[in-house]
Amino acid sequence: MFQRILIANRGEIALRIIRACREMGIESVAVFSEADRGAHYLELANEAYCIGPAAASDSYLLINRLISVAEIGNVQAVHPGYGFLAENAHFAKVCRDCNIEFIGPPHEAMSQLGDKVSARAIAMAAKVPCVPGSDGLLTDVNEAVKVANEIGYPVLIKATAGGGGKGMRVAGNEVSLRAGLQAASAEAEKAFGNAGVYLEKFVERPRHVEVQVLADHHGNVVHLWERDCSMQRKHQKLIEESPAPNLPDEVRQDICNSAVRLVKESGYQNAGTVEFIVDKDYNFYFIEVNARIQVEHPVTEMVTGIDLIKQQILVASGAKLPFEQKDIPCNGSAIELRVNAEDPDNDFRGSPGKITKLRQPGGLGVRFDSHVHEGYTISPYYDSMIGKLIVHRQTRDDAIATMKRCLREFSVEGVKTTLPLAAKMFNNSDFVAGTVDTTFVERTW
Ligand code: ADP
Repeated sequence: MFQRILIANRGEIALRIIRACREMGIESVAVFSEADRGAHYLELANEAYCIGPAAASDSYLLINRLISVAEIGNVQAVHPGYGFLAENAHFAKVCRDCNIEFIGPPHEAMSQLGDKVSARAIAMAAKVPCVPGSDGLLTDVNEAVKVANEIGYPVLIKATAGGGGKGMRVAGNEVSLRAGLQAASAEAEKAFGNAGVYLEKFVERPRHVEVQVLADHHGNVVHLWERDCSMQRKHQKLIEESPAPNLPDEVRQDICNSAVRLVKESGYQNAGTVEFIVDKDYNFYFIEVNARIQVEHPVTEMVTGIDLIKQQILVASGAKLPFEQKDIPCNGSAIELRVNAEDPDNDFRGSPGKITKLRQPGGLGVRFDSHVHEGYTISPYYDSMIGKLIVHRQTRDDAIATMKRCLREFSVEGVKTTLPLAAKMFNNSDFVAGTVDTTFVERTW
């Protein structure tokens, strides 16, 4: 087992990893940018090193500085958290080349799954349903038109290197397909340095359902059930829950088993998430793998009772998974709300600044994962998340009631927050009925 781990991240996920290390008797080495100097969570690490100025490109994204800290801090492993370098296969490889274990998948599996076209090919080989679309990358416009005629409009043009919704375009007819291809390709080239695009049938009003998986280095793969993350805005998740509401048990089993097959096919190890969209008839289609721990991992921890960060560290150290599929429960209902410092009245623009007053909720079944405190300044340089409020109760109705009670207790002053939108979401009859799709927020508010 590792004695010391470097945490190549910041904020709430850095704190989450520090906490897991402390419980496991592992020492943690943290890093911080000048903007994060003095953050309280850094005091909980055994050591902390400044790695540069505020801009992530000058600090949290600099592989050479992180490797230097790993050497100075004498660590045996690096946990990348989410965001920043978490899905950078080059970073994973550099760590391992330096004899430092990267707590995540093999870099080969990460590269293959990070490319959407090759991920689709892996999914197909594993007999996992994919959205009907082109076989691989599109080479010319006429081929795209031919595929679109076969699968039927509307179609979605997607960048193979895509992420964060960039390079995606819906085309309702041939004219917009021809124009959209060029635009999407140019956008992808600019954002990812890879102009490759492909086509998928555009699924109308889908739900987003994803499966948490864990795979060890000994060929054991399990799923930890699913999360529904359909409440989104601009492809950013606002609420995540487990189990997914209104998902027939057969479909649920099928989705979870598909995720396990895909992971086995790809040679993936460690924690990962297989994402699907589900249409109104409960047909489900693979969309992508997130090769890292996700923001919304706590809902899975609450229903299964399994500490995912701890399992990531154990698996990376070579340990066998300590449970089998049949031993993994899904108890009660857990819901997570992301609380962001954003201005809902101003197109959700980030609202950085000092938190002058903070009253956070508590009580039975309530977990608040956050690194902020009264007097903390939310930096404009990073994401605007204040924290994640997670409730876990025996039923979904109880969890919603607890969440509503928490929202009445919760107060943040000094910055604008998404809390007013949260109150609307948890009081919305469609959300309460569990019938929202990924277009719901934009259509409704
Ligand atoms: P990115 O990696 O850019 O986030 P994803 O492939 O994960 O892209 O898709 C992001 C979101 O776009 C999904 O959660 C879903 O809401 C929507 N989406 C993706 N593919 C389709 C599709 N074929 N039809 C309809 N919506 C889709």
